[in-house]
Amino acid sequence: MLSRLLGAAQPVDVSKMRTANSLQSQNEIELVKLKGIQEKSGWKDVPACPVCGSARRQGEFSKHGVELMPCIDCTARYGAQVAANLDDVYQNPAYTVFTKEDTDEHYAYRRERFGRERVGILEKYCGDLTDKRLLDVGCGNGYFLAEAMRKCRHCYGAEFSEKLRAYAQARTGLPIFRERLDDLPERGFDIITLFDVIEHVPEPLPFLASVDRLLNPGGHVLVFTPNFDSFGLRVMREYSSIVDPTEHVILFTEQSLRALGARVGFKVVYYETQGLDVDNILAKQQYLGQPRDAFLLEWRDALQAMINAAECGDYARIMYRKA
Ligand SMILES: [Zn+2]
Repeated sequence: MLSRLLGAAQPVDVSKMRTANSLQSQNEIELVKLKGIQEKSGWKDVPACPVCGSARRQGEFSKHGVELMPCIDCTARYGAQVAANLDDVYQNPAYTVFTKEDTDEHYAYRRERFGRERVGILEKYCGDLTDKRLLDVGCGNGYFLAEAMRKCRHCYGAEFSEKLRAYAQARTGLPIFRERLDDLPERGFDIITLFDVIEHVPEPLPFLASVDRLLNPGGHVLVFTPNFDSFGLRVMREYSSIVDPTEHVILFTEQSLRALGARVGFKVVYYETQGLDVDNILAKQQYLGQPRDAFLLEWRDALQAMINAAECGDYARIMYRKA
């Protein structure tokens, strides 16, 4: 079993994606966003679970003064408060400086490592992509679309950030929409992808219902999002970069991802986790000024392969199918 896992593993080289002390940089960005919220519209309360509507909850821990609420019914985690105006986060000029750096430095690695893998998942579950109509919502700098368009003739993107939209358009030459989903000029998609999107959406049910309206019957939705019910989060808690109440307004578990899809009438055709749990634990040690654990460093890839195989990785992928 172990040999098979290690043979199939595709380790991630985090040095290609992250700064040397990534949690330190992450914390600096979070403080900039917090300041933006506090100086502008402030916070508003979230009285019930945005996934299932239940008000049954119990505080778990806080970060930056925002308590993380576990929903007792669907097990999703959500902040007890959310920014009253999300523009205070995403249009904050100090914040977009950071995302620009990320765009230029890491595009090639992300396309090669993650773009190709994501296209492979689509081919496995949706068949030949050539004539499918694909929409990547929250396409960012477009590295996934750049890979997808090699296999699929009808690719589109949607991106709110003007800077990223321009970058994606220049890199791919594809139509990248700025409109809200309900106002898109194109509809009738066979595949809609949501990579690192759904955890940013304060009301995921109406959002997924809009996705549903854009899909053809039998169409697929591929979602990548952090997995709260993971080994990494169990160790990291508020130190995790995944726990960021300014942006990640909901943190999902397998159960809550399945509950979300079921409420829109989707079937689940694929679920797995592939995390960076061990790298994140090493980053926490570095952030706290502790020596990085030699055993974790030496056995990082093997440990991560086992965590992934147990579906306890800190990053989840789920594919829904429309009836
Ligand atoms: Zn819930």
